[in-house]
Amino acid sequence: EQTLAGKVAMVTGGSRGIGAGIARRLAAAGATVAITYVSSGEQAELMVKSIQMAGGGALAVRIDSADRAALRAGVGQIVQRLGRLDILVNNAGVGGVGPIGEIADDDYDHALAVNLTAVFAASQEALRHLGPGGRIITIGSINADRIHFPGGTVYALTKAGVAGFTRALAREVSSRGITVNTVQPGPVATDMNPAEGAFAEITRPHIAVARYGTADEIGSLVAYLAGPDAAYITGATINADGGFAA
Ligand code: NDP
Repeated sequence: EQTLAGKVAMVTGGSRGIGAGIARRLAAAGATVAITYVSSGEQAELMVKSIQMAGGGALAVRIDSADRAALRAGVGQIVQRLGRLDILVNNAGVGGVGPIGEIADDDYDHALAVNLTAVFAASQEALRHLGPGGRIITIGSINADRIHFPGGTVYALTKAGVAGFTRALAREVSSRGITVNTVQPGPVATDMNPAEGAFAEITRPHIAVARYGTADEIGSLVAYLAGPDAAYITGATINADGGFAA
């Protein structure tokens, strides 16, 4: 069903992983999708082509989310190129894990820039363009609420931050007909969190459904939240975690 026909969406970090799954599902629901990337230009172009082959509209733009001025300008450029903006999905993120004593200030600053400050800056800029029915959806993490391994302090800090930001922003923009929500995935098989390997072995026993999730399973939830049926959901933190936090 083309619930997003005529809508324009921006997905940060849409070249790979969860963001690619989100872009595919938004496009399948009829939205024209602008994806951003920082280093995977070829993969981003392949994503655009695959969406176009499926009959959807898409474009890719290199915008480093760590550069908040570039991100703000990038939102404006996407609006100029596609004529409007209805849906912002803050997805781009970095892991930034390590024992507390070994986290360098530069790595800390980078994780905060991409995972937290970019969410603020892109949302602020998007709100200049979003109208009634507008949507801001941020990909947090179940690790904001539950963490089962040492070395996740900075990651958890950023992901708890976006959930708080979401609730406060939802209050602020609800009168404009705009909803703001956080989706908290559990373990999803991507380059950041491969379903095989040492970390996966530590993780899997904590997942109630005993498997990693897929980018599509996050994408379908985001597409629902982006659509008109989700107008009564705002300020929410929605887990799609296979029961990781159950
Ligand atoms: P991946 O590492 O597989 O993909 C990351 C994506 O973000 C890529 O498209 C990458 O672009 C982009 N990106 C990274 N840094 C920047 C930057 N500075 N500027 C622009 N784009 C950037 O990660 P996932 O798909 O696994 O994660 C996506 C989101 O989901 C993140 O916010 C993550 O924290 C969250 N998440 C992931 C979970 C998991 O288990 N996988 C669980 C819970 C939350 P490029 O290809 O150019 O590098």
